[in-house]
Amino acid sequence: MNTSDIHDVAIVGAGPAGLSAAHELTKAGFTPLVLERTPAVGDVWRNHYDGLRLNTGRFCSALPGNKFPLSAGGWPSRDEVVALLENMPERGGFTVQTSIEIEKIRYGHERDIWQITSIDNQQFESRAVVIATGTNRIPVIPEWEGKNTFAGKIIHSSQFKNAQEYADKHVLVVGSGNSSAEIASRLAEYASSVIMSVRTPPQLLPKSILGIPFVGLGIVLRQLPNSLADSVLSFLRRTMIGDLSAYGLPSPTMSTLKQYAINNVVPILYRPFVDDIRAGRIKIVGPIQKISGGTVEVLSAIPAAQNTNPGTTTLQPDIIVAGTGFRTGFPELIQIPGITDEKGRAKIAGDQEFPDAPRLYFIGQVNPLSGQLNEIRLEADKIARKLSQQLGTRQEN
Ligand SMILES: Cc1cc2nc3c(=O)[nH]c(=O)nc-3n(C[C@H](O)[C@H](O)[C@H](O)COP(=O)(O)OP(=O)(O)OC[C@H]3O[C@@H](n4cnc5c(N)ncnc54)[C@H](O)[C@@H]3O)c2cc1C
Repeated sequence: MNTSDIHDVAIVGAGPAGLSAAHELTKAGFTPLVLERTPAVGDVWRNHYDGLRLNTGRFCSALPGNKFPLSAGGWPSRDEVVALLENMPERGGFTVQTSIEIEKIRYGHERDIWQITSIDNQQFESRAVVIATGTNRIPVIPEWEGKNTFAGKIIHSSQFKNAQEYADKHVLVVGSGNSSAEIASRLAEYASSVIMSVRTPPQLLPKSILGIPFVGLGIVLRQLPNSLADSVLSFLRRTMIGDLSAYGLPSPTMSTLKQYAINNVVPILYRPFVDDIRAGRIKIVGPIQKISGGTVEVLSAIPAAQNTNPGTTTLQPDIIVAGTGFRTGFPELIQIPGITDEKGRAKIAGDQEFPDAPRLYFIGQVNPLSGQLNEIRLEADKIARKLSQQLGTRQEN
């Protein structure tokens, strides 16, 4: 490989984050090398479930140089997001190399160059790297005792596509994040029964307040001290969501911001979920204890909901939908010791640099109350500015 093959910047991943970084870096005069594992730009969103709409609203979800059209309405659909992503390379004047899955990213000290290797052993070199592989790279399903004996089907929430497919089935949804709640609600319309297995009571907040998306308030709350922001959030929950403990879903004992800091999970904003809980269309139980053939033993209630041992209940679901999260896969992907925490999450974000990883940036790893897409837009701008300083601006803007 000669020096002319060394790219200024390589971007790994071309979802909203990678495309936003590519847009801003192209605007700054660079020609980024953008590498994407799926066959087409927008595939991750194309494969999300039917009926999905952005819960952060049209204005707060715009990406650099790419706003949603008025026709997308207040809450753009999955297909509107796909269309926006598909158009980004042409509008931004950059290209994406698809069907290239990166396996290893390592820094060569001697030459001060990043070396990037795909699973089919293609080699790329660059002076800087932007990691934009998302937080949802590797689906995780826990090793429940007896999992392999389950007589029904277990799918991860990322494989859920369409609620109609589950007509007349008894479904157990595991987990209490946004996706689990929304999937449970969609299933409640068609399935014979929907039971949700919850370990930690989720934070629940309204999607909009007086027509303004909640994330708009999130932008303001980020400026306030945590204690004040938490008081506002707890007031909103009390007045706009109410107490669901009679339905087995107690209020979390931890404040919203503290819970977010620990597990990086944003509050559930999907209102039909609350209505389905109140109407008994979704029943709540505690965590899975063990599986044996067609039977799943769960705690009868979320442990935090009761002071005493809640005891166990047995269920006979046809399907388990595991909304049990993802791994980033960073420890295997990025050969820099210490760059991730014990959960494999990047220790740096946006334009922050890790001491042993010069000119390596992460985008799309932070999911604040102000919305992840909004954060991605801000991070893309910061990274492009920082790299312009480090590598020299390529053109006058
Ligand atoms: C169902 C759902 C709904 C959401 N709704 C909202 C919302 O309303 N508002 C909001 O602000 N946020 C929302 N989010 C959160 C977040 O904004 C999205 O997940 C967004 O797509 C994140 O963008 P990303 O580019 O960081 O990650 P991704 O969209 O996951 O994109 C990562 C890209 O990297 C590629 N990739 C991964 N590994 C490799 C590799 N090794 N080599 C090459 N390429 C690789 C992937 O194929 C993918 O194209 C939602 C998330 C989900 C799952």
